[in-house]
Amino acid sequence: MAMNRRDTFKLAGISAAGVVLPRVASADEKQTEVKKTNGRSVVIIGAGFAGLAMAKTLRKKDNTLDVMVIEKNSIFMACPFSNTLLGGLEGVSLDTFVGDYYQPSEKYGYTFMHGEVTAINREARTVTTTKGVLAYDILVLSPGIAYDYTKQFPKWSAQKVREVAQACPAALMPGNEHIALKRQLNNMDDGNVVIIPPAKGKYRCPPAPYERTAMVANFMKNEGIKGKVIVLDTRAGKFAKGKAFKESWEDLFPDIIEYKGLTEIIDIDTAAKTLRYKAFENADDTVGTEQTVKYEVCNFMPINKCSPVIKMAGIKTDDAGYALMDGYSFRSKTDSNIYVCGDAVTHALPPSAQTAIWSAHRAAGQILDQINRKVNDPRAGLPAKAANVCYSMVGGKPEEAIMVTHTFFADPNGVLRGKGHVPKPQDGNGKFRSKSAAQAARAWFRGVMRELFT
Ligand SMILES: Cc1cc2nc3c(=O)[nH]c(=O)nc-3n(C[C@H](O)[C@H](O)[C@H](O)COP(=O)(O)OP(=O)(O)OC[C@H]3O[C@@H](n4cnc5c(N)ncnc54)[C@H](O)[C@@H]3O)c2cc1C
Repeated sequence: MAMNRRDTFKLAGISAAGVVLPRVASADEKQTEVKKTNGRSVVIIGAGFAGLAMAKTLRKKDNTLDVMVIEKNSIFMACPFSNTLLGGLEGVSLDTFVGDYYQPSEKYGYTFMHGEVTAINREARTVTTTKGVLAYDILVLSPGIAYDYTKQFPKWSAQKVREVAQACPAALMPGNEHIALKRQLNNMDDGNVVIIPPAKGKYRCPPAPYERTAMVANFMKNEGIKGKVIVLDTRAGKFAKGKAFKESWEDLFPDIIEYKGLTEIIDIDTAAKTLRYKAFENADDTVGTEQTVKYEVCNFMPINKCSPVIKMAGIKTDDAGYALMDGYSFRSKTDSNIYVCGDAVTHALPPSAQTAIWSAHRAAGQILDQINRKVNDPRAGLPAKAANVCYSMVGGKPEEAIMVTHTFFADPNGVLRGKGHVPKPQDGNGKFRSKSAAQAARAWFRGVMRELFT
C-alpha cells in the first residue's frame, strides 16, 4: 500500500526512554510547576469509552509510556444499555453502569486525574486544568459531545435553556440526567411520555431515542401506567434500524407507542407540562398545523455538537465543532501531536461506544508508531468487518433485541466510513428481534465494561 511522508510522523525532542513510575493523583493535588516531559508523555482528555480504552491500550503495549487521563466527572457512568434501566429490566440497577476510575489506572499503571480541562496551549504543549498545568508530548482528545440548545432555539434565554435541560433531561451524556429521567418515570401518574430525538445533524448513538421509546413503553405496560409514549421526530420514519424498531413497536406496544415522523418543536412550557409543535402532512407541506400535547415526562434531546474541548485546542473543525482528521488516521488535520478519538471525530462512523473503543485501539497504534518513529499505514486492516455491533433492546417480557453491524472502510473521499447491515436472526421467526440478540446485548455490555475496567 502507498505510504507518504505524512505517514512517518516525527516526534520532536524524544529522549532516551526511562521507565516512568505510574502514580495516582490525589483529589486535591495542585500542580504549581509544569513537570517536564520525557518525549513519551501522553495526556488524554476525557475518561469515557475512548479515553479509558486508549490509556489501557497504550500502557499494555508499552509500559514505558507516561500516560495521564484527565476527567471532570468523579465517577464513571456508561450510557450504552442505560435505556434498560428506564425499561425496568430484571437485574439492572445503577450499579450496572458505574465504574471506579482508579481500578484500571492502578492495574495498568497510568495516572488518573480528577479535574476539568479549561485551556490547551498547542505551542507550549500544555493543558490547563482545575488542578494545575500539565505538559504533553502527545495529546489525545476524547471529550465526547455537548448539547446545542441555542442552535435549535436561538431565542431561548440561558435561563430557559437551564429550565428545559433540568425539567426534560436529554440523557445522552453520562451522569445525572439518566437518574433524573428514571426518577421522573418512577414518580409519574397516568399520562404521556414525550420523546424527542435530536432534530438534525450528527448525534450520539442514532438508535438510542428509539430504543428508549421501546423501553419506556415496556416500563409503562408493566407498571400499568395508562398513557402513550409519543415520539416527535423530524425523520419521517427514516432512522437507524428504522424497519426493525417499527416492526417491534407495532408487535409489542401497539396501544402505547405513537410515532409522529414530520414534526418541529416550537416551545416547551415546563410549568404547565405542555409542548407546542408543528405537524407536517408530508415533505411538501412547509406550513404544517400547530398542535399542543400535555406530558407527564418529557425527554427532550437537543441538537448535538462536539465538546468545546476540541475548540480549546484551536484545531480545525467542522461547523458543529467535530475535529477534522488527517486522512484515514485519528490524528488531527492541524497538529501531528494531537489525536482525536470517540464521538469527537469527523470520520463518517457511527458515534458509539464500540466505535470509540475501536478508534482508541487504532489511534494507540498510530501514536506508538509516531513515538517510535515507525511508518504507520492508517488503512492497515481495512475494511474492518463488524467493527461496530450495536444492539437495541426492544422488549422486556420476554427480553428481545435487534441489532446492526457496521463494516468500517476507507472511503475514496478521504474519511473512514461505516456501512450498516440490520440482520434478521435465525431464532427470530422472520422478525428482526430475537431473544438471542437480547442475551448478546447483555454479554456485549459486560464485555465493553471489562474492556475499560479489568
Ligand atoms: C442512551 C444511550 C445508549 C447508547 N447505547 C449504545 C450502545 O448500545 N452501543 C454503543 O456502542 N454505544 C452506545 N451509546 C453511545 C456511547 O455512549 C457513546 O458513543 C460513547 O460514550 C462515546 O465515547 P467517548 O469516549 O467519545 O465520549 P464519552 O464516553 O462521553 O466520554 C467523554 C468524557 O470526557 C469528559 N470530559 C468532557 N469535557 C471535559 C473536560 N473539559 N475536562 C475533563 N473531562 C472532560 C466527559 O466528562 C466524559 O467522561 C449510547 C449512548 C446513549 C446516550
